[in-house]
Amino acid sequence: MVAAPALVPVSGCGSKGPACFVVEAGNWRLMLDLGYGPQPGLWPDVSRVGRIDALLLSHGHADHAGGLKLLPEIGNPPVYATDIVARSLPSRIAVRPLPLNGSTEVLGIRVTTGRSGHAPGGIWLHLALGDGLLYMGDNSNESLLYACDTPPAAGTVIIDASYGDYDVPLAECRMSLRPFFDGPGVLLPVPENGRGPEIALHLLRSAFPLPRIDERIRAALRRLATTDAACLCPGVAAELARIAEGAPGAGEPRGITLASRADGTAGEAAGLLAQWAGRDSPAIVFTGYLPPGTPADELTRSGRAKYLRWNVHPRLSDNVSLVRSTGARTVLPAFGDAKHRKTWQRAFAPAQVLTAGSIAL
Ligand SMILES: [Zn+2]
Repeated sequence: MVAAPALVPVSGCGSKGPACFVVEAGNWRLMLDLGYGPQPGLWPDVSRVGRIDALLLSHGHADHAGGLKLLPEIGNPPVYATDIVARSLPSRIAVRPLPLNGSTEVLGIRVTTGRSGHAPGGIWLHLALGDGLLYMGDNSNESLLYACDTPPAAGTVIIDASYGDYDVPLAECRMSLRPFFDGPGVLLPVPENGRGPEIALHLLRSAFPLPRIDERIRAALRRLATTDAACLCPGVAAELARIAEGAPGAGEPRGITLASRADGTAGEAAGLLAQWAGRDSPAIVFTGYLPPGTPADELTRSGRAKYLRWNVHPRLSDNVSLVRSTGARTVLPAFGDAKHRKTWQRAFAPAQVLTAGSIAL
């Protein structure tokens, strides 16, 4: 007898950890994402996973695709990703294509994808198994930059619950940052592919002077405006090209500076923080996750830097809308702290909320 399809969370449930889920379907075993981090040294425990027949990646961020060195431990399965994500992976990995927005078959299972509004080439994945399984990866429907497509109905949804019960709109986040944008100088350590271009685009559209940017961000803007433009909202590519060509380089403490990496552990941001953290100015503002033990964490704890979130994941109300529109009966909140379980249960009812254990599809 063929067993009913099932979803087994390996990592990424109950806390902000590396994404890794296994789907068992008949004789096949698929893996959704194989991440690393975001805290340094945090790997998913795949020691009991066994052989996997295909790995499907939602996007290229390290906490979703940074665990590929574990491939030999799960039988070196073929890796599926969008072309844009494939270009960001180590060149030794041979990647089979997934559409940005369309449908394909993997191991005889119909896989439908759509853009997830979060990262270059990032997608949600719908697997036609049982009542349907929808994996959102990381997603946002507030992005100025990245397009997001509406997912189909699914009985089970793995949602991006990174923000727990947080429900502040991005428009309010932008207002909180305004005094820093209007001030004499501010450094924002940002990822070159996400909040970096996103904040630069906001500044362009709000008629601020173009921010100072480091060369990694400039290269990312050029990539987004050309080879990766299919994942963008309409019209954005031309705006990003203007920023890439017109924005001055980083290094001056005056004006608005965007520098990577977001946690300050490396890149231009690390150098600028080393120069400026001991002074009163410029202001320093972190806008994303603060991994423990990094300059981002230490400088905000000491009070030298501010933390003001810039949304790149869904708010609670976005996830409520998603659960309603998909008609999901079972919701697995991924990447968020399980202390929010009661809030999720109330918000997503009558769907049931599971934060651990195997789920029949
Ligand atoms: Zn991500």
